[in-house]
Amino acid sequence: MAEVRLENVRKEFGGVVAVDDLSLTIADREFLTLVGPSGCGKSTTLRMICGLERTSGGEVFFDDQPVAHLPANKRDVAMVFQSYALYPHIRRSRRTSGVALRMMRVPKAEIASRVDQVAASLGIENLLERKPKALSGGQRQRVALGRAVIRDAGAYLLDEPLSNLDAQLRVTMRAELKRLHADLRRTFIYVTHDQVEAMTMSDRIAVMKDGLVQQCASPEEIYARPANLFVASFMGSPPMNFLHGEVQREDGKLLFRHQGIAIELPDHASAAVDDLSGREAVLGIRPEDVLLGVENGTAAKIFVAELLGADVLVTVSLGEQLVKARVPAPYQVGVNAQVTVEFPAEKVHLFDPSDGRAVLAARSATPLNRQDSVVANQSPAAAKGDTG
Ligand code: ATP
Repeated sequence: MAEVRLENVRKEFGGVVAVDDLSLTIADREFLTLVGPSGCGKSTTLRMICGLERTSGGEVFFDDQPVAHLPANKRDVAMVFQSYALYPHIRRSRRTSGVALRMMRVPKAEIASRVDQVAASLGIENLLERKPKALSGGQRQRVALGRAVIRDAGAYLLDEPLSNLDAQLRVTMRAELKRLHADLRRTFIYVTHDQVEAMTMSDRIAVMKDGLVQQCASPEEIYARPANLFVASFMGSPPMNFLHGEVQREDGKLLFRHQGIAIELPDHASAAVDDLSGREAVLGIRPEDVLLGVENGTAAKIFVAELLGADVLVTVSLGEQLVKARVPAPYQVGVNAQVTVEFPAEKVHLFDPSDGRAVLAARSATPLNRQDSVVANQSPAAAKGDTG
């Protein structure tokens, strides 16, 4: 059993604040993912949890016991890193996998059976008799994973464990890891910069930027109700569309105006957007929520259409603005064809560009069923999100 709690944890390297006042509780048996762009402090956070990095301030607790003063080998954790390091002096993968158990003086027969069990679940049975140098990068990574999960630890800490694998193996291993978590029934803390990995595997996701957690919630909540422009632009692929404009009240209606286009906002937006009225605002809408070919929609032109498989990603130009719509295949229209576009009122998000904060979330968000086919990641520029 291991609940991991960070209280006001901080890490500075010289003048660089890598992690800033981080408070987070990871429940026993939870799969929590720290996700964010390069340099946001996710690896440093993980290294402070496992004891490879000392905290500059704050405390780390395992099941209410403070551990920040303890070295890594005195904490009940198992780790897997991107670098798929194998013990170089150990000759065969079978022995590599069992070494942690041998160090814990587990009986030989039990070691053999646990090695076989984990090897089967990771599909590496036929690799066990090979030396590390006879393994490909992907195979070594899987053996390294096996070596970590074979230990009975309170928490398993994984830092980009899939990043050296090819795209197809990554997709397979995502599912394997999720299944492994369900089987082991232990706490998993996972670091990645890949939002699709975060979405597909986690119970909760902590989205980080500049050493700060921007939002920590379930994947569904993060996707449906991003707390700010940064989270909205980072999570989801293809990313959310953003339109810069102004919120206005006209004849009792609440409108978002963008380059001569008026988008009516839902009634429930009224209170939320009161202080945005007459000011600049950013409207966000997910590609799967944009409607094309709707009667009385706004006139637009097809910029390009890309077949994704079951869906087509259609980019339309709305004046100067490009908007992406995800529609079911087949959708065959030529470049520059006329089309109408609509942003359903209940699907729009509104953000305050002064601080990036979300002031309105889509009321009926499209369920999370289309993330899996997408592997690209967004790299947003700023907390406010790079929405230009
Ligand atoms: P990546 O995905 O690229 O690994 P990250 O989100 O894991 O990035 P960290 O490795 O935690 O980010 O780094 C956070 C910040 O701390 C960065 O600005 C990094 O340069 C800095 N940093 C990390 N380790 C050290 C160190 N040992 N000495 C000095 N600065 C460091």
